[in-house]
Amino acid sequence: MKITEPPPLLHMMQRLIAEPSVSSVSTEWDQPNVRVIDLLADWLKDMGFAVRKLPVPDHPGKFNMVASAGSGSDGLVLSGHTDTVPFDESRWRSDPFALTERDNRLYGLGSTDMKGFFALVLEALRGLDLSKLKHPLVILATADEESSMSGARALADSGQALGRHAIIGEPTSLRPIRMHKGIAMECIRVTGRSGHSSNPALGNNALEGMSLVLKEIMDWRQELGQRHSHPQFEVAVPTVNLGHIHGGDNPNRICGQCELHIDIRPLPGMDLDELRGELDRRLAMVLQPTGLSLERESMFGGVPALETPASAEIVRSAEQLTGHTAEAVAFGTEGPFLQRMGMDTVILGPGSIDQAHQPDEFLSMDQIQPGIQIIQQLVHRFCMT
Ligand SMILES: [Zn+2]
Repeated sequence: MKITEPPPLLHMMQRLIAEPSVSSVSTEWDQPNVRVIDLLADWLKDMGFAVRKLPVPDHPGKFNMVASAGSGSDGLVLSGHTDTVPFDESRWRSDPFALTERDNRLYGLGSTDMKGFFALVLEALRGLDLSKLKHPLVILATADEESSMSGARALADSGQALGRHAIIGEPTSLRPIRMHKGIAMECIRVTGRSGHSSNPALGNNALEGMSLVLKEIMDWRQELGQRHSHPQFEVAVPTVNLGHIHGGDNPNRICGQCELHIDIRPLPGMDLDELRGELDRRLAMVLQPTGLSLERESMFGGVPALETPASAEIVRSAEQLTGHTAEAVAFGTEGPFLQRMGMDTVILGPGSIDQAHQPDEFLSMDQIQPGIQIIQQLVHRFCMT
């Protein structure tokens, strides 16, 4: 088979950024990611990788890509997401889809979060003789990380094994991360019966029921904080945020329905389904005497918390190569899904999270060479020796 080198680094970055691949839970924003997947698949095929393009079930136009070389059951997975967040073009100084160099920075939507990472990976592998791999090397590209994580979720559900050690190249300023909190968003609906305000007996007030729900959730939050804490997190306890409430229509009507949205951020070791079950039992108990009805719905599947042991080989290697101790962060990643597939996962990538999800997103050019070197050294350590 004829091996073709990938295009120059900045050309790859420019092509990846030029293909819109916004993912969003709102349908007006959501776009397919297939064109970004195809670019990566073509380059990696040319470089000699075996490439699989995997449709995400029930998500038309959305694909994951697995490019692999070498064989065996261990090996290294370099993983990233192909989608970006929505953007507000009026707040950008340059075209978000045109890679623009200015002040030693590369501007563009996805430059740092995280199309740039793929370009760095391919650059790091330039000239690598894949026949010399002693352990497998896998490049994984996912869909919908910024919205539902349907890509990583589908991969984890498929139960396939991809490798033993994984790096997710989210922007961490090239510092390794081995822990983050999880996230769940729940919608709680209390339904009663509306009626004229002049006689409370004519209805059953959902807002009054919701006041009991709010109080119970705040009590639960306090207990969770007493039961669980993790000093390595900036906010050491699990959080529960009351984020949105809507109920009723008029001051002179008994409120018939009230809806609350909350966000729960558990620490590693706390299971999302157990938390949801606990919440359900508590709320059912507190509303039981009122005769009001209660529904709870998850607003998306949720992301579990991540904790990769400090003793894991990938953690120790990442610490050694970067000179930084692996830390905890406040944002969620696809790490827990990779972990479910049997991979010890570290989050480590070029660019700063401060620039992600912002207008004028950029990748600082001084992250490029060190980023490439770290990737090369990881490949050497996990695949070549
Ligand atoms: Zn990201």
